[in-house]
Amino acid sequence: MKQQAYTFSYEIYSGVEELTKADADLLLKAREVTENAYAPYSNFKVSAVALLNNGNILTGTNQENASYPVTICAERVLLSAISSVYGNEPINTLAVSYSSKNSNKPISPCGMCRQMLAEYEERTNQPIRIILSGMKGEVYIINSVTDLLPLTFSGTALK
Ligand SMILES: [Zn+2]
Repeated sequence: MKQQAYTFSYEIYSGVEELTKADADLLLKAREVTENAYAPYSNFKVSAVALLNNGNILTGTNQENASYPVTICAERVLLSAISSVYGNEPINTLAVSYSSKNSNKPISPCGMCRQMLAEYEERTNQPIRIILSGMKGEVYIINSVTDLLPLTFSGTALK
């Protein structure tokens, strides 16, 4: 028997004012577009904003449905949009924010979104930096989505 350990490190900033201008701009955009979320059931409005390698910025927000499982997270809405508009354009940085009455603690992508983000990294051969923060306060920066999904399942298993 052999034991394997997994660790990863990430950066914690006390607020948006500690970030580089490019990162701060992306996070502020994410905070702004939370208002575009369609979240009448949970009132938990999430946004995801991507800075692409080609310099373009695209946004996504969560889209709920009365048939709850139909709901799509902001990150997957965004990835589908990027892929549809730009094909395999790599993502330089992704900012995720949310607005909720209860918390400003950074939230991170759900398991389903981590899986989709991991495949996006793989297909574009580039790690996606992720900025996580609520409407104010602490900001986490993670260097790669796969840091959040150890032993990632990928399409190579299907070949
Ligand atoms: Zn999700």
